[in-house]
Amino acid sequence: MYNKTMYGLGSRRSVIRELFEYGKKRAAEVGADKVYDFSLGNPNVPAPACVNDAVREILATEDSTAVHGYTSAQGDAGVRAAIADSLNRRFGAGISPDMIYMTVGAAASLTVTLNALAEEGDEFVLLAPYFPEYAVFVSSTGAKPVVVPFDEQTFAPDLDAFEKAITPNVKGVIVNSPNNPSGAVYSRDTLEKLCAVLSAKSAEFGRPVVLIADEPYREIVYGDAEVPFLPCLYPDTVVCYSYSKSLSLPGERIGYIALSPSMTAGKEVYAAVCGAGRALGYVCAPSLFQKVVAKCVDARPDIAAYERNRNLIYGALTDMGYTCVRPDGAFYLFVKALEEDANAFADKAKRLGLLIVPGDDFGAKGWVRVSYCVSHDMIERSLPAFRELMASYKA
Ligand code: PLP
Repeated sequence: MYNKTMYGLGSRRSVIRELFEYGKKRAAEVGADKVYDFSLGNPNVPAPACVNDAVREILATEDSTAVHGYTSAQGDAGVRAAIADSLNRRFGAGISPDMIYMTVGAAASLTVTLNALAEEGDEFVLLAPYFPEYAVFVSSTGAKPVVVPFDEQTFAPDLDAFEKAITPNVKGVIVNSPNNPSGAVYSRDTLEKLCAVLSAKSAEFGRPVVLIADEPYREIVYGDAEVPFLPCLYPDTVVCYSYSKSLSLPGERIGYIALSPSMTAGKEVYAAVCGAGRALGYVCAPSLFQKVVAKCVDARPDIAAYERNRNLIYGALTDMGYTCVRPDGAFYLFVKALEEDANAFADKAKRLGLLIVPGDDFGAKGWVRVSYCVSHDMIERSLPAFRELMASYKA
């Protein structure tokens, strides 16, 4: 009657969604000021002004049937040209508009890419800690996710374990930097070493191991942290991008896939991307927002608010004695739980009104994620609860 795997996925919400729903219910019971919801990565910084300006201008000046009509399946040619121009100006990447495919956000960029690549018996490597939906996306293609552990000091992947994990069954690797959930930004040195392993393995196997660069947080970095553009480091890179975080547009569902200009069998891989988009029904990304992002290609979010939050919560929690990864990007703080079982720790936090996500589903047992794309005021008000949580472990 129905597919059991899909039933399982649909009837069990993710831990993050579960907490978010609990937070709404709890706020109605005890008052919103007593619930400190750090569960979701929903940007609280408004979209840059150019987004609303572009919407108004497009609606006022362009033909309505074109604005609301179908575009080419892979996206409007002018929009893809604007995105390629911006990437090439910024990174000298040589990206062709003919190798860009417009999507409904990073989730679609990833599922289309994985479906375009996966064949029977394939594995995809995930670098812990990782966005939990990766495991769902990979498994739903019939391929197997293989998890590589991280170095607890740097939060970069354990490179020895990475090298061992790249067996002849591996079709690709998903790299996510700036990282959700750790906020870590992998250094150029780490990425170069990672790419060197991939190049050596590709040569050994006589076919490329594909690097899938999941980059929704590319623009959200603090200080002088560098985010190298991966097609410039490794020829067989597929960029999976989204404007959900960088333009604060998660509800508009808009992003793209871009293939590296030096991709092996690039034209065929692009055709497979178009085929996967077709098979999954991910064609003609929303027309209005394709046009909007084309007008805002170089706009950036106001990350000052995130940085202020980062400084407050990282500073306060480390002062209280928590062990945290210093986040150089995205808007997440990864904190070591005060007991081995991060679920039990998150439950104790929940009783104090702190909604934080246990790391098990991120492939990082013993850690919790605190999402700080929330109001500065809520972080300030939550600090006594974090202090009480720490004190409860010392009592
Ligand atoms: N990849 C990562 C690392 C994410 O954190 C998210 C969303 O939080 C996604 C992909 C999905 O992004 P989108 O909402 O654009 O589909």
